Amino acid sequence: MPHIERFIVGWLYPDLMNIYGDRGNITTLVKRAQWRGFDARVVELGRGTAEGMEDVDVFFFGGGQDREQALVYEDLVEVKRPKLERAVVSGAMVLAICGGYQLLGHFYQTATGERYPGIGLLDVTTEAGRKRFIGDVIVDCAIDGLKPSTLVGFENHSGRTFLGPAATPLGNVRLGNGNNGADGTEGCLQSGVIGTYLHGSLLPKNPHLADHLIRRALARRDLSELTPLDDSAELAAHARILQRLKAPSNQL
Ligand code: GLN
Repeated sequence: MPHIERFIVGWLYPDLMNIYGDRGNITTLVKRAQWRGFDARVVELGRGTAEGMEDVDVFFFGGGQDREQALVYEDLVEVKRPKLERAVVSGAMVLAICGGYQLLGHFYQTATGERYPGIGLLDVTTEAGRKRFIGDVIVDCAIDGLKPSTLVGFENHSGRTFLGPAATPLGNVRLGNGNNGADGTEGCLQSGVIGTYLHGSLLPKNPHLADHLIRRALARRDLSELTPLDDSAELAAHARILQRLKAPSNQL
């Protein structure tokens, strides 16, 4: 019986941090690993448990309104933080969207001045502004060798995120507000952690980013050679967004 490699996705707070189609990112990671012959599974990591985090290849942390963020930040700091830090050091990848992205930083401060501490896995801080940033987003991505070099998605947030010296932007916005509507950056890259404001969900229309996450996570097992998939449908959806938003497509 040939040995089938496992691929495990760790889903942080699936019951509370999961909006604007974020669940689609889980489906994309699992399916793209299964289509390469992996035994792909999801470990749900709700409040009160850190079980199985040491076996996770890619963690996913979705978005959530202020109310949901208030319900999860204590568990994140006290229960998940130690194992998440160890997992990232040992080569696991993390994708965090919007409210999840904000709580991986040092803190998120609401529009009413309440401050929710984060875990500082990302050197960023976020303070809510009065006006919500809502709409389509196109990003010129800074990840080397990513083809296409654009990411497309949807944003809906009040938070303005600013990067510290240890963090670099995921890219620059060609359309949309991104991190703070002021410095033109979107998202954040820091070791194996990717934070972004892109909902949608993100990965179905950006299969190149999904494969980047899978490949990087499997590198520690020398399994980073991924058989190419037929992404014509996914990339057609990506191109359609660029066309609809009248943005030139490159390398599609
Ligand atoms: N509550 C946060 C904000 O408004 C995050 C929102 C979200 O995850 N979409 O900025």
